[in-house]
Amino acid sequence: MLLLFDIDGTLLLRAADAHRDAIHEALRRVHGVTDPVRRGLGEVAGRTDADIARNLLVAAGITATQIDERADDVRIAACEAYARLVPDDLSGHVTPGMDKLLQRLAERDDTRLALVTGNFEPIARLKLRAAGIGRYFARGQGGFGSDHEDRAMLPQIARRRAGDGDRAEWPRAQTAVIGDTPRDIACARADGVRVAAIATGPFGPEELRQADAVARDAAELGEVLEHWLANRTRLPS
Ligand SMILES: [Mg+2]
Repeated sequence: MLLLFDIDGTLLLRAADAHRDAIHEALRRVHGVTDPVRRGLGEVAGRTDADIARNLLVAAGITATQIDERADDVRIAACEAYARLVPDDLSGHVTPGMDKLLQRLAERDDTRLALVTGNFEPIARLKLRAAGIGRYFARGQGGFGSDHEDRAMLPQIARRRAGDGDRAEWPRAQTAVIGDTPRDIACARADGVRVAAIATGPFGPEELRQADAVARDAAELGEVLEHWLANRTRLPS
């Protein structure tokens, strides 16, 4: 089974301050936006970096044409800024129990671990390396905010990368998204794959009830995934 993990609110908790600062610095350098409107966590959670940047730029009066023309510049500037701003050690921000769960899942021969995150890929890789859990997620796999501005496109991109070249995508029935927001659930639905939600981010279990399963913590998430793995031959195709 291909397990597609979100980062912020799922693998890591409250580890996005430098990330937010890097995006804001990019908007300042590229568009001259000095004071982006502050958005609530629930408003930005689950959005891709490019989508977050676009929303902040629209609120600052930048036109859609200008945003599109300089989207690559914003991405590059944000990644450069993050490489400078990333904390040396984010290991204290790993969701409790998640490192052990990843280790247990990685040791099985019936799992593939990858990322589906709105983070631009270089930011995602730096963040997980600083947290000490980057080793579970192979290069060349996953779907990132740098692949598409719309999170709904990311699971399919990850399945394509996990598959056997361009012709064979990883099967939907053997894929699950793991995330902490309604947008994670929506992106799984958009690709027709199952989704486990974990209520460690800004949303509680009630707000995540559209998921196929809701876990309160890493221990419950482990139970959900092990149940799915044990019953995978009975998944709908
Ligand atoms: Mg998240």
